[in-house]
Amino acid sequence: MADFDTFKSLQKKQKAYSYVLSLAGWDSNTEAPKECFPFRSEMLSIISGEHFSLMISDAYVNEVNDLMANRDDLTETQRKEIEKAKKNLDKIIKIPKSEYVEYSKLRTMAQKVWEEAREEDNFDKFKPYLEKLIAFQKKMVAYRSDTDNPYNVLLDDFEEGMDMEKYDAFFNTIKTELVPFVKEILKKKDEPETFIHDKYPKDDQKKFVEYLLDVFHFNKDRGLLKESVHPFTWNTHSKDVRLTVRYLENYVFSSIFAAIHELGHALYEQQIDEVFDMTNLKSGASMGIHESQSRFYENIVGRSKPFWEAHYSKLKSMFPKQLKTIDLETFYRGINKVDETFIRVEADELTYPLHILLRYEIERAIFNDNISVEELPALWNEKVKKYLNLEVDKDSNGVLQDVHWSGGMFGYFPTYALGSAYAAQIYYTMKEELDLETLLRENKVDKVNQWLKDKIHCFGSSLKPEEIIQKVTNEPFNPKYYIRYLKEKYTDIYLS
Ligand SMILES: [Zn+2]
Repeated sequence: MADFDTFKSLQKKQKAYSYVLSLAGWDSNTEAPKECFPFRSEMLSIISGEHFSLMISDAYVNEVNDLMANRDDLTETQRKEIEKAKKNLDKIIKIPKSEYVEYSKLRTMAQKVWEEAREEDNFDKFKPYLEKLIAFQKKMVAYRSDTDNPYNVLLDDFEEGMDMEKYDAFFNTIKTELVPFVKEILKKKDEPETFIHDKYPKDDQKKFVEYLLDVFHFNKDRGLLKESVHPFTWNTHSKDVRLTVRYLENYVFSSIFAAIHELGHALYEQQIDEVFDMTNLKSGASMGIHESQSRFYENIVGRSKPFWEAHYSKLKSMFPKQLKTIDLETFYRGINKVDETFIRVEADELTYPLHILLRYEIERAIFNDNISVEELPALWNEKVKKYLNLEVDKDSNGVLQDVHWSGGMFGYFPTYALGSAYAAQIYYTMKEELDLETLLRENKVDKVNQWLKDKIHCFGSSLKPEEIIQKVTNEPFNPKYYIRYLKEKYTDIYLS
């Protein structure tokens, strides 16, 4: 007969392995010297193999299945832990270990080849890897589900509870409401502001980002800041949450807004109740909810006028030469400039969801309509023309731009747009309870943090995404708030 303590001790051993792997991952992305990688991957593949064996060991599998069968006897938190463990187990248990290993190798290789292919602007080089990755994904889905809608399985992996029906409704709203609005805004777009691409010395940028950590009340006893090529947030539990940014001398807003974005992820993790530290509920609820927090801080707080009413003088005092003639209004328009762009990660807040819309449609076609990899570049370009009115000049500006597919991550993209939409829905509820503008103007971000902590952060992943949205906003997810938020904001900036 299974008991919860045995489950916990088996789980703890797995956690120890994943903790070490995770620390090594942080190190790879921040400090590790280039030439250490062959040795390192050799060593780490042994730890990974051990970790996988623990995750599928008979002892652990039996324990989870038994407890799952008797879950009505458990406490609520225990039951949620077991349900999550069972779900994770079902994802891997039917995959033969040899195929799992082969797939891991394929991903490592594919990422390297993708980097080269993007650099050389050579889709044909990446094509065979992408074909294999897709075939593998289809096979993996078939191992665990007999669905005739494989994309649904992948969507649920990244955002539990979401499926094509719900995403179709969401993206249709974006298509019908946002695409025409964006076209209208783009007719009015400003001339490029030169202050945006002035030279801002890296050391001063660093100082400003340090200042932002304090503004947002990031707890430095529970986390730290470093540099990396791509900004990210890393965490093992609520008391170890790290973030990175990069500094581009000719684009200061890259570091400022990446920092605020990652701070959103980091604050979420730091504010999770420590009772979850030793459980599998110790992290954010989902990709979408996580992204809702990062985008809430980045866009709704960080790109708002009240926020800069509090902090623009500080920025100006640090960059007097670059910002001397720039008043707050010009600055505000500058950080909310709308423009068509090929590259998703460089897109502004308004056109961003259109980049996600086209990826969603393409992934759906890959998994459910079996479109061939050969056809992807043309399909990509056709959709960019349709939604963003741009002619893609080369595949590195098109189908080759994102890292996700090379890592086998299909079904991930939609959570980015979903996160922004959740954030807007949460924003309208928050505004009923807090005077957000005044709080930001008075530099009281801690009050905003506290509200999000009580309503969302403290629960970790003990609540599902749809439960969080329902609980916080008193209704299910509804994309109308996102459309309303974008239209209010950009009408005010460009059309009024
Ligand atoms: Zn993010």
